[in-house]
Amino acid sequence: MTAKLINGNEIARQIREELKIETTQLKEKYDVVPGLVTVLVGQNPASISYVTAKQKTSKELGFYSIQDNQPEDITEEDLLSLIGKYNKDSRIHGILVQLPLPKHINETKVLYAIDPRKDVDGFHPVNVGKLMIGEADYLPCTPAGIQQLLIRTGVETSGAEVVVVGRSNIVGKPIANILLQKQKGANATVTICHTGSKDIAFHTRRADILIVAAGKPNAVTADMVKEGAVVIDVGVNRIGMTPEGKAKLCGDVDFENVKEKAGAITPVPGGVGPMTITMLMMNTLKAAKLAGGISS
Ligand code: NAP
Repeated sequence: MTAKLINGNEIARQIREELKIETTQLKEKYDVVPGLVTVLVGQNPASISYVTAKQKTSKELGFYSIQDNQPEDITEEDLLSLIGKYNKDSRIHGILVQLPLPKHINETKVLYAIDPRKDVDGFHPVNVGKLMIGEADYLPCTPAGIQQLLIRTGVETSGAEVVVVGRSNIVGKPIANILLQKQKGANATVTICHTGSKDIAFHTRRADILIVAAGKPNAVTADMVKEGAVVIDVGVNRIGMTPEGKAKLCGDVDFENVKEKAGAITPVPGGVGPMTITMLMMNTLKAAKLAGGISS
């Protein structure tokens, strides 16, 4: 069997179209414009490219957008008071602090300082807890994107055996929690594997839906995949440069061989990646609606 390709670029584009329409309606009906601030500390090239992409999408959707660049040597105290300022700013509904932060700043302290109502990354413990009990306002962006890919390609999650490889707080644990909930687009039986798991292949071979977020090329090979399974490859691994000087990327799954066995699979790039920023925008729009008491 040759797997159907799950096109993250196309699904992300469709969602952004919907968000753009909703943003226009929000402005027309309620005079509310979603506001997003992205805070960048220092000049890390990867971080610059991530915040630039977030700002570009935010502007394209018609959001009120601020790119706040701070010097590498900003003190923790000053960064915390900057966040305090945006917590109070009624034009700002979403605050994103680009990670990693310089070593002299305690990342946890900074992320916990963001008002949970403006935590559009979904990393604040209040939002992690709400997800756990099935009452999430904001889902963390990459896992939310994975769920949308499944829903929008018509993959049945209810009753499915889902196996997640990886237990990070940003991908593995939240996607497991999302798909476990007794909710639409979820209601699965979920297993999480990690480096302490005894026989990973035993678990992955049972998966109707296999989600791989290990950060290692070829962590999942064809012999570990059930015939016809849906395979979501979250991994982004840099494996060299193209002749044009661009980073050459691969996922965590042996794509060439697994695609001959799976029923559907996400490519890298062009699978999960494009969904993440789109979900940040979805969360910001939701934050604006929640702040305005708008339920529709
Ligand atoms: P992480 O924090 O490094 O966590 C990796 C997890 O995978 C850990 O729980 C680790 O187990 C487990 N693991 C590693 N090798 C394994 C193996 N061979 N078998 C089973 N489990 C294994 O990584 P992350 O932040 O979750 O990210 C994972 C990948 O997704 C990375 O390539 C990252 O770049 C990518 N990513 C992509 C996006 C996107 O938007 N596309 C967003 C976020 C992350 P232990 O806990 O036992 O160490």
